[in-house]
Order: sequence, then C-alpha cells, then structure tokens
Amino acid sequence: MKKCTRCGRLLPLSQFHRDKISEDGHYYVCKECRRKYYTDQRGGLAHKFRNATTEEMERELARRRAAEARSAN
Ligand SMILES: [Zn+2]
Repeated sequence: MKKCTRCGRLLPLSQFHRDKISEDGHYYVCKECRRKYYTDQRGGLAHKFRNATTEEMERELARRRAAEARSAN
C-alpha cells in the first residue's frame, strides 16, 4: 500500500504508475490523480485555446510559467 500525495488515499501499488526514479519504484501520485492532472493541464488549455494559434498558446504558457515562478518566491 502507498499513500497518494495528491488525494491522500491509501491505495495498492497497482494503482500507481511505475517510476524507476522514485524510491519505491512508483509515482507518488495515483493513476487517477495523474490522469486528472494531465487532463486539466492539456484538456483545459486546449479547450480554452481551441481557436488560438500556436503562437498565442505559447505566449499564454510562458505567461503562466512566469506567474508560477513569481508565486514560488
Ligand atoms: Zn490520488
């Protein structure tokens, strides 16, 4: 069993993707959270910028990264 750092649930290792870099060979977030995370990231952005050009999307991504960097300090 392993605790997901994102949802906090205690789940069997089969519910975690394999990751040879991590200590116990599995990701620290469960499959469900990982999938949701990527859906939010890509799906959310793709939906918002459905009609935007790649250039506009790149700019938005850069803006978000800058905002994240600022809030980290
Ligand atoms: Zn989870």
